Amino acid sequence: MSFGIKTKELQGVYISGASCASCNTAALRNTGTIKLFHVWGIPLFPVWASSLVACAGCSSVIKIKNASEDVRHKANSVITPKALLKSSWGLSLLVLAIIGLMYLGYTSSQEKQAFVAAPQAGDIYTVKIAAFVPDGSPSNYPYGIFKVIKVDGDKVSFVVASNTYGDLKSVRKSLSDDGRKADFYSDFQIESDLTALKTKLDTGAINDIDR
Ligand SMILES: [Zn+2]
Repeated sequence: MSFGIKTKELQGVYISGASCASCNTAALRNTGTIKLFHVWGIPLFPVWASSLVACAGCSSVIKIKNASEDVRHKANSVITPKALLKSSWGLSLLVLAIIGLMYLGYTSSQEKQAFVAAPQAGDIYTVKIAAFVPDGSPSNYPYGIFKVIKVDGDKVSFVVASNTYGDLKSVRKSLSDDGRKADFYSDFQIESDLTALKTKLDTGAINDIDR
């Protein structure tokens, strides 16, 4: 991982009615320096900042606090909370990404809750087989696919896919490649009820539901 400190220079406005102490030119400008911690070139947070005054005449740069009282009075630091936040845009982006992922996770979880509360024929469940059929699958292939074929009151009937899977990625791939083939599901059926399905969703035995 590449990380470290990068320096960013900020240019502010010219200070009217103030002259350089070195060359007496009236060309002083508010500037500043921020040192930012970055990862892969993305600035995350400031570690150090300094407000400066630069002279366009003689190129001298001094800290605002070392400037004459007149210049100090007229200068405006470019190191503002807003400027710091803007420079650390990577952190803002990270926070937004986390909020986005949490929101997606939340809506997806809401959707699954709604699906188990009112199952429909054709719903496809990705499940941990052992939670439904004790000793029903080799431990190397714990995942299975169930399809709802009938809902009768609170009784739900599923057909069980012929294959079992080692991980969720294989489940997704198999569903998208072969999910619609006639022999994808075996003749083996299982039954469950709404309460049991809800419990299994809450405990993670139902991993995903496609409708
Ligand atoms: Zn100067």
